[in-house]
Amino acid sequence: MAAFVKITTLTIKMPCMQERILHIAIPTPLDQRFDYLLPYNYAGPALTLGQRVRVPFGRRLLVGILIGTSAHSDIASNKLKPILEVLDDEPVLCPALFALCQFAATYYHYPLGELFALALPRALRQGKACQPLTTTAYRLTHQGLTLAPAALTRAPKQAALLALLRAQDNHTLDARVLRQTTAAGVITSCTNKGWIEKHESLTPATATTAMTSTRVTLNTAQQYACQRIQQVKDRFNIFLLHGITGSGKTEVYLHCIEEQLSVGKQALVLVPEIALTPQTVARFRAFFPTHTIEVLHSGLTDSARLGIWCQCRAATIAIVIGTRSAIFTPLPKLGIIIVDEEHDLSFKQQDSLRYCARDLAIKRAKDANIPIVLGSATPSLESYYQSQQGRYQYISLPARTGKANPPTFSLIDLRQQPLIHGLAPRLIEAIGTHLQRAEQVLLFINRRGFAPTVLCHSCGWVAHCPHCDAHLVKHHAKARLQCHHCGFACADSPTCPDCASSQLLAVGAGTERVEQALSELFPHIPLIRIDKDSTKQKGSLSRFLAQIHTGGAQILVGTQLLAKGHHFPNVTLVGILNADHGLYSCDFRASELMGQLLLQVAGRAGRADKPGHVYIQTHHPDHPVLNCLLQQGYSAFANLLLAERQAACLPPFSYLALIHAETKQANQAMAFLQQLKRMLPAIAGLECLGPAPALMQKRQGYYRAQLLLQAQTRIPLHQGVDQIQKILSEIKSPPGLRLGWDIDPKQC
Ligand code: ADP
Ligand code: ZN
Ligand code: ZN
Repeated sequence: MAAFVKITTLTIKMPCMQERILHIAIPTPLDQRFDYLLPYNYAGPALTLGQRVRVPFGRRLLVGILIGTSAHSDIASNKLKPILEVLDDEPVLCPALFALCQFAATYYHYPLGELFALALPRALRQGKACQPLTTTAYRLTHQGLTLAPAALTRAPKQAALLALLRAQDNHTLDARVLRQTTAAGVITSCTNKGWIEKHESLTPATATTAMTSTRVTLNTAQQYACQRIQQVKDRFNIFLLHGITGSGKTEVYLHCIEEQLSVGKQALVLVPEIALTPQTVARFRAFFPTHTIEVLHSGLTDSARLGIWCQCRAATIAIVIGTRSAIFTPLPKLGIIIVDEEHDLSFKQQDSLRYCARDLAIKRAKDANIPIVLGSATPSLESYYQSQQGRYQYISLPARTGKANPPTFSLIDLRQQPLIHGLAPRLIEAIGTHLQRAEQVLLFINRRGFAPTVLCHSCGWVAHCPHCDAHLVKHHAKARLQCHHCGFACADSPTCPDCASSQLLAVGAGTERVEQALSELFPHIPLIRIDKDSTKQKGSLSRFLAQIHTGGAQILVGTQLLAKGHHFPNVTLVGILNADHGLYSCDFRASELMGQLLLQVAGRAGRADKPGHVYIQTHHPDHPVLNCLLQQGYSAFANLLLAERQAACLPPFSYLALIHAETKQANQAMAFLQQLKRMLPAIAGLECLGPAPALMQKRQGYYRAQLLLQAQTRIPLHQGVDQIQKILSEIKSPPGLRLGWDIDPKQC
């Protein structure tokens, strides 16, 4: 092995040369640290925790993170291998981020090495240098810019190249993109003539159209909110900013961030996936024209992500706006964290590391001793409860800005009504009235496709997914039946596979069906459908949104992709086509989610000077929870649900941890969890419930079950989790069994 060691690259020295054992976190599912030797001839400056090292691991070479050093190892020293290379002079993880990763690994019971791997950009995981990549671009020179077009009448290709660059931001275009449209010879001759030049720049991440900033004068409530937050601007405090949709929360964020930037600090803004629109980013860029703002989301290329990471670590980026994984960004000068729409479920990752970015943000703010603002029109019950307990500071923005008033609500009783593709006559009539006034209407249905179920009228056969406990969804446009859980799809056959009858019924409605109904009912009115299917193509969502803003569409049909966060001033009618799911689901959070979604969708109505009206179709018009929400507002609704949670001893009045098990053999997961439960010793204050089949028992060919731990305080809960971990390390689990923890589950 020794011949392998690239000692020459080591330029660092250990503080204490007795401590030659290096503890390394390595990305493997084995939840343990691995010991390696510091090479005997190593002579460089001190190693620091959080540095990356390359190590031999089995037959592979892996990148690990240094998490500790000591003089002794439990492994015999002749069995230890030396590390091969130290990859960084400075740790890639700033100390705060290093601490956060360690905390998350412990708290969520996730292997530390894998956690680091999730936190790092892929390029760093692969061992690439921690410096921003540059890209080559071409830009117009002054000469090229001022060249008269007439000079080029005989060289149309060169003229086209110059015209193309003229149309770009900063008259610059990525070299790779340019080469796709322009022959190399044309580029060379324009370069030789001095009209264009090659230009190396840091990989640009995102470009948004500039927006001119018109500074608004904050209203009294906004001023008060800013004062409260700024009073304690250099200490840890959690603020819950409860402001109805359109009340100006974003303005409050901008002002609080401005204060931090003025003293050289950085800001982190977490937003739900759906809210990360070019408009949001443009608003930040317009407000802070002289600061660097970058956006982190799942669509970035590896090099763009690496570039942003490195610049954040070097503190040359002032504001990072990102979705949940942006919580793992090194920000050495972090001064404030904003979590917008803090109730949104997309902050919780639902697979592998099931972390909640909002909760980690609170931990990060606490460690850094800085303020954190959780903003929402519909705060999560957890946060709302914490503010009632005085642990979070509650600030309210009770009114919409400007002339806009909150919308009014009507419930439409669906019982015994003839529905046209899921639409009640009263709603259709109202839509007609609003369309006549040249206003826009928005119809929300939380289901894409044509119909959620296909049923044989002759024999009762229902189209099921062969891999999941789920119906196949009929997609009219593609003439296919699709499973929305595993991606299985098959042709939409005109006859029943069981009895060959051609009487197949599409039951229920999805966005496609509503679209079809409306285009039949209002044939000359331009309509846009926005859901995951209609916006697959890159850029199509922004194109649709632009069309809505310019009045190019009058009827808008969509899922939450359409309904959350956007500002459509001319929408005056919002129809919610199926509100009922939340009223009878067995998930304990269903009513909370329903209430939040209703108000978010309703918040699209009447955001400017025209009043908004919201129609809600339901089979349960007398439901107390629904009525409380609509008549008394979100706070009363939250209090009602909190009382129910308290009576049932559910969060936030207790803490939960779930262990998931799944196997390809029916019943095996249940049996295994039963065995675990039997072996779990009694722990005071801890209840072990189940095992029970998961809400969707079979998914993607796996049978799934779960065991629930519940406790009034966190200590017995984590004792229980630790005990189960210990049992798991001692017993043999069935081959192919997949296990995972979900601490503070959002669903169970
Ligand atoms: P929220 O984030 O609470 O939904 P926004 O901050 O997006 O609300 O504000 C809604 C609209 O009101 C935006 O167009 C914003 O520019 C405008 N606005 C915000 N604060 C004010 C104010 N004090 N005066 C006038 N307009 C405002
Ligand atoms: Zn049949
Ligand atoms: Zn399926």
